[in-house]
Amino acid sequence: MKALKFGGTSMATVDSIAKVKQIILADKERRFVVVSAPGKAAGEIKVTDALIAVCAADGASRIKAFAPIKTRFMRLCDGLGLGEGLLDPDFAEIERVLPQAEHDYIVSRGEYLCAKLLSAYIGFAFVDAADMIKFRDGVYDDGYTETLCRLALEKRPNAVVPGFYGSNADGRVVAFSRGGSDISGAIVARAVNASIYENFTDVDGFMTCDPRIVPHATVIDVLTYKELRELAYMGANVLHPDSIFPVRKANIPINIKNTFNPDLDGTKIVPTDKFLSGEYARAKKSPIAAIAGRKGFCALYIDKSMMNLEIGFMRKVLSCFERLGIPVEHIPSGIDSFTVVFSGDWQDHANELLNSIRSEVKPDHMHIANDVALIAIVGHGMKSRPGTAARAISRLSNANINLRMIDQGASEMNIILGVSDEDYDRALVALNGEFEI
Ligand code: ASP
Repeated sequence: MKALKFGGTSMATVDSIAKVKQIILADKERRFVVVSAPGKAAGEIKVTDALIAVCAADGASRIKAFAPIKTRFMRLCDGLGLGEGLLDPDFAEIERVLPQAEHDYIVSRGEYLCAKLLSAYIGFAFVDAADMIKFRDGVYDDGYTETLCRLALEKRPNAVVPGFYGSNADGRVVAFSRGGSDISGAIVARAVNASIYENFTDVDGFMTCDPRIVPHATVIDVLTYKELRELAYMGANVLHPDSIFPVRKANIPINIKNTFNPDLDGTKIVPTDKFLSGEYARAKKSPIAAIAGRKGFCALYIDKSMMNLEIGFMRKVLSCFERLGIPVEHIPSGIDSFTVVFSGDWQDHANELLNSIRSEVKPDHMHIANDVALIAIVGHGMKSRPGTAARAISRLSNANINLRMIDQGASEMNIILGVSDEDYDRALVALNGEFEI
C-alpha cells in the first residue's frame, strides 16, 4: 500500500485538486494521503502565509483578516461541486476561537481545511493529525506518535490527514517548521507500513545539476538517502533529508513525483543498502548521481612549519571557531597547513576569528578568502573506481578553472571541489559535461 503527500501547488486550484483526485483514484494502493495547505495561485498567496498574517492582527480584526482565506476555500469547494457551505461548521469553530487562538493553531488551519475538503471530494475518511501526531512540551515525540498513528490508521481502508502539525499532551496544536507536511507524510507512511511514500510536488524530480546553470540537466531516476543528504547540504532542496527521518528509519523508499506530469517516474530515494545490493539501479551507468554546489563560502588558510609535531594544533584552531559559534563545514589539510571552510554568513566575524587564532597558535601565515564556491560530485559509483577525481580535475584545468580546494571523505561517495565564486557556473557546466549524468 502507498502513502502520498501533496504539496501546496497541488492543492492550490480547482484544476489541480481535480488532478490530485485522478492520481489517487488511479491506483487502489493509494490509500493514505497527507496534504499541505493550498499554495500560490493566480492572484492568491500561500494560505499558510495568509494565516501568518492573521496571527499578526489582534483580537476581533483577525476574523476580518481570515475572510479572504475563507472565501478561497468556499470557492474551491464550490468549483469542485461540493457546495460552498461544506466547511461552514469548521469556519464557525475557527472564527469562534480566532481572537484568542495561539499562533500554531491558526497557521495549521490551512492544512486542516484542505484535508477536510479533499476527504469529502475523494470519499476518504478525515483523520485529524492533532489526535495522533504528538509533541511533549513542544518537542516532537516520535515514539508516542508512531504508536498513536498505527492505532488510528492501521485498520482503516483509507484516510486523508492534514500535514504540518500535531498537538501537545493537552491537545493544543503544535506546528512543525515550514514545509513540515513532508514530515507528516513520512510519519503516516511509516505508520501504515507503506511500500512507498509518494511525495507529489510541482517538479519532475531531483535534477542531476542545477537546470538554471546546466540547461540539459536531467531528472535522476534513483538516489540513495545518503546521496540525498550530500546534495541537500549543497542546497539542492526538493526534499529536506531531516524531514523524512521516519521513512528513512523504516527503510521505506520515497518517490518524488510531479502532480502536473504524473506519468513520469520521478525520482526514487531508496535505502542505501538496497541500492548497493542491486535492488535498485540507475538507468545511466555513470559513477556519479548528481553534482550540486553553493557559492559564498569562506576559507581560512593557515600554515605553520612543523605543524604536524605540535600536538593539539588543529584542536586549538577549531576551539576558536567553537568559541565564536561558527560551524565548520570542511577541513582539507596538507602537511604544514590546512584550510577550514565555513559559511560566508560568518564573514563579519573574520577579524575576531583571526585574532583569536593568532593568539592561540601563532601561525606563520593565515588568511581568509571569502569568495569560495563548493561543488560536490556525489555518487556511490565512485567507490573503489579509480579516476573520478582525476577526470574532474583535468576537466576543470582544460576549462582554465583554478581549483582552490579538494576534499574527499573515506566513504568515497563524494568529492568536494572549491573554486572561486566567479568560476562556479563554468565549473558546473564543465563537470556535468565530463560525467554525462
Ligand atoms: N503549509 C506549510 C508551509 O507552507 C507546510 C507545508 O506546506 O509543508 O510551510
